[in-house]
Parts: sequence; C-alpha cells; structure tokens
Amino acid sequence: MDSRYSRQSRFAPLGPQGQERIRAAAVAVIGCGALGTVEAELLARAGVGRLRIIDRDFVEWSNLQRQFLFDESDADAGLPKAVAAARRLARVNSEVVIEPLVADLTPANIEDLLEGVELILDGTDNFEARFLVNDYAVSRGIPWIYAAAVGSYGLTMAIVPGRTACLRCVYPEPPQGSQPTCETEGVLAPVTACIASLACGNAFKILGCGSESVNTRLTTVDIWSGEIRQTAAPERDPECPCCAHRDFVHLTGQRRSPISLCGRNAVQIHERFRPVDLADLARRLAPLATVRANDFAVRASIDPYELTVFPDGRAIIKGTTDPAVARSLYARYVGM
Ligand SMILES: [Zn+2]
Repeated sequence: MDSRYSRQSRFAPLGPQGQERIRAAAVAVIGCGALGTVEAELLARAGVGRLRIIDRDFVEWSNLQRQFLFDESDADAGLPKAVAAARRLARVNSEVVIEPLVADLTPANIEDLLEGVELILDGTDNFEARFLVNDYAVSRGIPWIYAAAVGSYGLTMAIVPGRTACLRCVYPEPPQGSQPTCETEGVLAPVTACIASLACGNAFKILGCGSESVNTRLTTVDIWSGEIRQTAAPERDPECPCCAHRDFVHLTGQRRSPISLCGRNAVQIHERFRPVDLADLARRLAPLATVRANDFAVRASIDPYELTVFPDGRAIIKGTTDPAVARSLYARYVGM
C-alpha cells in the first residue's frame, strides 16, 4: 500500500530524505485566518512534525467565505480559531503534533510562544505583528515567510536571515495612517489561498531542502486582473536597523503602542507613531458601521463595540477590557 506521503516523497527534489526532514520539523503559523488556515492545512497534510498555531481571535460567520478549516458549527460556537483549526487538523492528520495557542503575540510572550520553532509562516493581518516576527526571526536566525493579501491582491516573500533582505530592509517603518484591511476593502478567497500556497511552496523547500534552496523573489498576485509578477527581492540594506545593526526595537517593545484600561469597560491604545487621516478612515468605515466624524475624532459603532480614533492614531475601544480584542479590532478596522 502506498504510504500517506508517497506522492510527496516521490517528487524528486524532495524525495524520502526531504520528507523525513519535513517530519522532523517544528513550524509555527502566526495568525489563523484566510492565509493561516490554508498554510496550516498544507503543512499538516504534508506531515510536518510539530505545528504550532497561534491566534487571538474567534471564528465568526464572516470568516467562512475564505478560512478553509472552519465550518458553521465553529462559528455558531464562537470557538477560538486556533482551537477550531487544531480539532479539524487532528482529523486530517493524527501524526502531526498540533499545538494550538490562543494568544495575542506580543514582545513579552513571543520567545515563549515560538520556543523550538525553526520556521515561521505569516498568517497575520497587521504590520505590528510582522515587524515583531521579523525582529524575532532575525535575532534568532530563523527563516520566516512574509505573506499578505487584501482585496484581490497579495504578496509573499521568504526571509532568510543572513542571506536575504529582511522585512525592515524593504519597509524601514510600518506604513503610516489607516491601511486598507480585509474588513474595509474586502478580500477574495482565491487570492488568500494562492498566496498561502506560494508561501507553503517556499516552506516545503526550506524544510525539505534547506533554507539555501529557497528563491528570494517577491511574488505579487492579483487574482482579479490575472497579473502575476515576480521581482528580485531587494538587496539587503547595509544600514538596516534590524538585520545589519541588530537594533530590535519591535522585539524589545519600544515601538509598540501601549494599551491601558480606560473607564469601566474600555481600553485605550496609545499610538504615537501613526497619524491617521480621519476623513479617509470615516469613508472606509462608513459601509461597515454607524460612523460619526469631525475634525477631532471618528467614532464607529461596530456592535458590540464602539471604536473612537483620534488624529494621532490613538483609539478608545468601548465594550471590552481585553487588550487582545482591542488590538484585533484596531488591526482590522484601522490597520496597524
Ligand atoms: Zn534588514
């Protein structure tokens, strides 16, 4: 009888040796949404040894259009995404040790959450998390695969510390102001599945054949126009604060906006680095929420929460005392 992995190990560049390396590997998927669910499923079916799934959110009905591991019962039950994904993947491949972690990745916990991991896949929805992961990965010399998508467009690039440009060589600073997010601009499942698949192609190469085998191109895909591009990844920046000067400001938390309790059932996100164009934000949020805007603030009621954003990027989120919930809402509706 053909073994479970026969079609994969018969693929010559991997072979039985590559398959054995995949089986021995420990991989983390950070963020278990549209990208992360596909990445996790491909890795689990491929027979990765240990798969850690880190996510802070709960399954919602609006996830089901593109987040492959979840079904209606998960949304009805409001299960944590990491838990729902782990339950599903345990039925897909019982040989894989699945480690679901319901957690908000922060500078304070990243070392614990990624302990023992040798490859990180990006399934996050915000730059704050990506810059944190980049700092951690470069500081430890661990490869990670950047992936992002919104609307019909997505991109991915493998980052191999010491060999390729890191995220901060490409983007020295997180983008300013409110960003297009999947909440405000929508997102199509074919593009997230495509980008996650491309990311996993690189993951299989890194795990099966070593990080020197991976291509270092930036791939961009627009599933609507049909345009697919590959460009050579930028050169490493010899003055990159992260991979050249090893100044890990995101890992030490120096660039993280502090968060504090604010009133009985509200939290405040103090943003000091990211001015927001309030008119633009009000326009983005108008189809999604009851929005009131003036020159001083935008207030959006997103049941059961109320989000008030100020021009300096500061925000007050009413309806929760949980910093992870507040950060998630900010990332989804303002962009971070
Ligand atoms: Zn760099």
